Amino acid sequence: MSMRRNSKYNYCCSFCGRTKEEALILVAGIDSYICEVCVEQAQEIIDEEMNKGNQDTITEMALPESITPLDLKNHLDTYVIGQDDAKKFLSVAVYNHYKRLKQPTHHDDGVEIEKSNILFVGRTGTGKTLLAKTIAKYLDVPFAIVDATVFTEAGYVGEDVESILSRLLQVCDYNVASAEKGIVYIDEIDKIARKSDNPSITRDVSGEGVQQAMLKMLEGTDVNVPPHGGRKHPEQKLIKVNTKNILFICGGAFDGIEKIIARRVNTQVIGFNSADTEEIDRDNLLQYVSHQDIKSYGLIPELIGRMPVLTYLEPLDTDALKRILVEPKNALVKQYQKLFRLEGIQFSFAPDAVEFIAEKALEYELGARGLRSICEAIMTDAMFEFPSRNDIKEFVVDRQYAEDKLSKSKLNKLKAA
Ligand code: ADP
Repeated sequence: MSMRRNSKYNYCCSFCGRTKEEALILVAGIDSYICEVCVEQAQEIIDEEMNKGNQDTITEMALPESITPLDLKNHLDTYVIGQDDAKKFLSVAVYNHYKRLKQPTHHDDGVEIEKSNILFVGRTGTGKTLLAKTIAKYLDVPFAIVDATVFTEAGYVGEDVESILSRLLQVCDYNVASAEKGIVYIDEIDKIARKSDNPSITRDVSGEGVQQAMLKMLEGTDVNVPPHGGRKHPEQKLIKVNTKNILFICGGAFDGIEKIIARRVNTQVIGFNSADTEEIDRDNLLQYVSHQDIKSYGLIPELIGRMPVLTYLEPLDTDALKRILVEPKNALVKQYQKLFRLEGIQFSFAPDAVEFIAEKALEYELGARGLRSICEAIMTDAMFEFPSRNDIKEFVVDRQYAEDKLSKSKLNKLKAA
């Protein structure tokens, strides 16, 4: 979009058209301007909307009486393959979280149920984001995904941690009351691990400082949020959001944490009962992950303490990848079938093609994320050609066809990389 100007250098309000001369102040955005009168009007609209939101009582947003952790898990099962432990932990944590919201603020028994933020440890593409997204959608609460890698300590280049909440506010149209019951997924939390063992870093801007800055937010406090994210600009009116009832789900791959787990597990076994040695599944050490390992990895104990629910996601094997391709409610195969059905074509993958795609995805080490790109590489020619032909009524992709198409695609280069 080009900027609105009356003449070459005469900027004007993008909302009412007042020129720089007519307005007292023109605040510049990325590609537009706003004058002080329009800011005031906008603020009035925001205030009105927020008051509307505040009338919602917390109970309205909380879980319906009849939902149990088992219902939550069953729902997750229809979208997410495997990951039973993670699903169970998530279902219980979410159930307790929303039950906690139903409690009156002042308890007669003095027992306050603490918040149960969650930490997912698992390789990329194993379903961490999908789990968080699926549960939020089911509960019909606002949901935002943010990436921890963009944050730096206040005063440094990068975003302030407060902008985590900007995303949440944006998805619920700045309805503060609704945002305050939402779920935030913070991805790549492992990337803000302390790097203090690196002597060349005099100030650990991206690590410990960010973790410190996140503490209060995760625990529950009033946060002044810049509505449009990014850094705090003096002209940006901050919106106060209380995070007491916001559920934070953090996720990370924690590359190399298996070594830390192995070291701990080994010493423990030797120290206690060496008969247990055989029972340890060394191919999947992630299942034994503990808060202690996360601490050794470089997250500070205070932050770990604010994510009391720790669980892991299993690496996906060929079988799981095959199931992901066909079983979930919006499985890729089902999506292609629907697309082709709209063209009057009956589509299917032969079992050997499904096997082949899963094998390839495993080879690329992108988790289930690889399935999509492989399928696209295989299907693009057909999706390009078929709509302009009307002699095709059925289309079956077998292993041979899939191999052919994939070997001609650029994706095949991934293997060599
Ligand atoms: P990450 O663990 O890196 O957050 P995502 O949840 O974003 O991974 O998954 C990437 C893609 O792979 C998603 O589109 C999702 O559909 C698919 N996927 C990953 N794991 C699973 C799973 N266990 N079941 C079904 N689909 C999955």
